[in-house]
Amino acid sequence: MNAENLSVFPAGKPNDAYAEYFTGQSYLAMLSTEQVVIGNVTFVPGCRNHWHIHHADKGGGQILLVTAGRGYYQEWGKEARELKPGDAVAIPAGVKHWHGAAPDSWFQHLAVEVPGEHCRNEWCEPVTGEDYGKLG
Ligand code: MN
Repeated sequence: MNAENLSVFPAGKPNDAYAEYFTGQSYLAMLSTEQVVIGNVTFVPGCRNHWHIHHADKGGGQILLVTAGRGYYQEWGKEARELKPGDAVAIPAGVKHWHGAAPDSWFQHLAVEVPGEHCRNEWCEPVTGEDYGKLG
């Protein structure tokens, strides 16, 4: 298994620009950079992003469309939701969350940035090994 044969979408390049906000290696391919911004994010097994919040004064948030592998989405204070290809996750603006691969599986999703006013991301603490370790 490698990043390039996971789905019909390109995996892109190592996600160096956001590496400090991820635990483990991820890849990013920008599929759309105008109108609605859409990136394809690929996570190696065990890789996940830090807790973060998509802020906006109006609208905003993020939609994940799962294209390959197995992973998780978790909102602060809630149980993690297991994700498989074909799943969609609507993440409202202002909700603290993380997303990433299962410990033993690659994972890939399209990340759709929902347009809004004054959209910005707030990156918080890493998902601890204790919390992540509870997931199968
Ligand atoms: Mn997010």
